[in-house]
Amino acid sequence: MSVLFWLLLLTYIPSPMISKSLNWQPLLTAAVASLVASAMPVQAQQVTINPAKPTLGETLLVVLQLDNNTERPPTVIFGQRTYPAFQIGPNRWRSLLPTTPLEKPGRRSLQVMAGKEVRNLAVWIGNRSFSTQSIWLPPGKDEEGTDFEFDQVDAFKALVSPKKFWSGPFLKPNSGPTTSGYGIRRYYNGVFANDYYHRGVDYAGGTGSPVVAPAAGRVALVGRESQGFKIHGNVVGLDHGQGVVSIFMHLNRINVQKGQLIKAGQVIGGVGSTGASTGPHLHWGLYVNGLSVDPVPWRSQGFE
Ligand SMILES: [Zn+2]
Repeated sequence: MSVLFWLLLLTYIPSPMISKSLNWQPLLTAAVASLVASAMPVQAQQVTINPAKPTLGETLLVVLQLDNNTERPPTVIFGQRTYPAFQIGPNRWRSLLPTTPLEKPGRRSLQVMAGKEVRNLAVWIGNRSFSTQSIWLPPGKDEEGTDFEFDQVDAFKALVSPKKFWSGPFLKPNSGPTTSGYGIRRYYNGVFANDYYHRGVDYAGGTGSPVVAPAAGRVALVGRESQGFKIHGNVVGLDHGQGVVSIFMHLNRINVQKGQLIKAGQVIGGVGSTGASTGPHLHWGLYVNGLSVDPVPWRSQGFE
């Protein structure tokens, strides 16, 4: 039956008749359903977003289940940025969307395009308070890194390689207690640092205590203090694949080589105090599509 017919029928029904006569109700419902179905394309995709109530610093897991496979990967636009989607099963795709403490909480647009179908969704990112530290530096005592180290580290953080190496929840990379959590903000000489947040978690393991891979990956960065890694110190970067990478800083030794494939739990180095560090500790930073996210949810739950 045509949309026009149902429209005419709907407008023709006098409203008192609808409320008085129960017999009209199923017909009216059917008419509305028919209108909706005719006016919109058939929903060929199912989108699930986890966690249901994300807060700043969390990684959003977006899974798309399609009725039919698409020739090209679906496009996922979150806020202003396009994120890659990877196939994780038959007609099933996944995108990982990072959030950080530098963003404002609130509504974020999410657009998913699969084939010719476009879905406009919204995600509410809840606020989260991060503790603050005050750092007092004497004038001229700012520690400066080298272009050499930042060029290599930036290129590493931008990696989006097609193979997924990780599976299941991530392991704790060192047995020491956590001394600084993710997202801590700072005041430098009394001035709030707008661009700073602690981009990782610190573990106060003893000097030389083993640093293990929290998940499988390929060694994509090896840097040494002696080569100019003044801030990072001796550093290892693991590529877990599909835009997920881990960095391990301030090591006293490095047990791996660039290009090597590493299993979850394998020793990659030892805790140290190299680079910009005031005492032995491991800094583990987890990056998703180039942004530092809270590693804690990655340890407690498995990301598909
Ligand atoms: Zn740290």
